[in-house]
Amino acid sequence: MEKNDIKWSELGFSYIKTDKRYISYWKDGKWDDGQLVEDNKISISEGSTCLHYGQECFEGLKAYSTKDGGIQLFRPDENAKRMQKSCEKVLMPEVPVEKFIDACMQVVKANEAYVPPYGTGATFYLRPFVIGVGDNIGVRPAPEYIFGVFGMPVGPYFKGGMTPVNFVTTDVDRAAPYGTGKNKVGGNYAASLQSHLEAVKRGFADCIYLDPLTHTKIDEVGAANFFGVTKDNKFITPESTSILPSITKFSLLHVAKEYLNMEVMEGDVSINKLDKFAEAGACGTAAVITPIGGIEHNGKMHVFHSETEVGPVTKKLYETLYGIQMGDVEAPKGWIYKVK
Ligand SMILES: *Cc1c(COP(=O)(O)O)cnc(C)c1O
Repeated sequence: MEKNDIKWSELGFSYIKTDKRYISYWKDGKWDDGQLVEDNKISISEGSTCLHYGQECFEGLKAYSTKDGGIQLFRPDENAKRMQKSCEKVLMPEVPVEKFIDACMQVVKANEAYVPPYGTGATFYLRPFVIGVGDNIGVRPAPEYIFGVFGMPVGPYFKGGMTPVNFVTTDVDRAAPYGTGKNKVGGNYAASLQSHLEAVKRGFADCIYLDPLTHTKIDEVGAANFFGVTKDNKFITPESTSILPSITKFSLLHVAKEYLNMEVMEGDVSINKLDKFAEAGACGTAAVITPIGGIEHNGKMHVFHSETEVGPVTKKLYETLYGIQMGDVEAPKGWIYKVK
C-alpha cells in the first residue's frame, strides 16, 4: 500500500483522522461482531453514563514497522487484560482478549498507509476504549456499551535524541489510596489536568504524584511510572495500590534483569532518599523512557545523572526495549504479535 504523504519525523502527538476505525456495541448481555467504519463521530444518548459519571476506560498501545517491512504489536494481550480489569472496576462488560487484539489488528491493517515506515522513529498509536451509553439518569451502570479502537501516526517522542526533563512534586492526589489509580479510567485523568498545568506553568515537564496515604513516596510521574537505577546498579520501581500498572514498566523490569543482568525490585521510593539513585526515568508507551534530569521537592532541586545528558543505564534500557518493539532485538516469547 502507498504510504500517505506525511512528514513522519515531524509528527507530534496530535489527533489525525485516519481512514477506518473499529466499533462494537454491547446490548442485551452481549457484544456484536464489531465492524470498521469511516465516521469518526459517535452518536450517543445525552444520558450516557460516560458523560456524567465517568463510566469509561481506555488503553494505549502502538504498532511498529520492522526492518523487513512487517508491522507488529507489542504485548497487546497485556493491554487487553488491563482493560478487562478497568471494565470490571467500573462495572462495564469485559471485552474478550481475542476481540481486543483482533480489533487492533483490523484498525492497523485498514490504515496501513498511515503506519510510519521503519527508521522514521514515528509509530502508529492505537487508542481502544469502552464507554457506558444509552438512556439513563441515575448513578448506575449503563444499559449499553461501546467498544471502539482508533489509531493515528505519532511522531518520535525525542526529536534529536533523548534529553532529560525536570519534574516537581505536587500536594494533589490523582487517585485515592484504594481507589481507581490502578485502572485506566477517565476520572483519574480529569483529576490530573490542573496539577499538570500548574507544573507546566512553572517550567516543569509534569508533576510527580506522591503516595496519597502518606505523601512520602513516589507514586507516578504525570501519566507515566517511575523507575530509578541505584548507585549499585539496581533497578527499582515503586509499588503502590494507586499506581497504573505500566506494561512498559513490567517490560523494563524484565529487560533490566534478563538482558542487562541487573538486580530488580519493586518497592518504596522515598522522596527524601533520592540520593541513592544514579539515574531515574519515567516510562510509558508514548516515550518508552523519559530520562528524569531532576525533581524539585519542597523548593529543593535534586539532580540525578545530569539535567542535560541521558545516563548510560537509562540509554541501554531504552535501546534494548525499543529494539524489541521494532523487531531489531530478539523479544521474549509471546511479546510480539505480527500484524503482517
Ligand atoms: C497508561 C499509563 C501509564 C503507562 O502505561 P504503559 O502501559 O506503559 O503505556 C502509566 N501511568 C498512567 C497513569 C497511565 O495512564
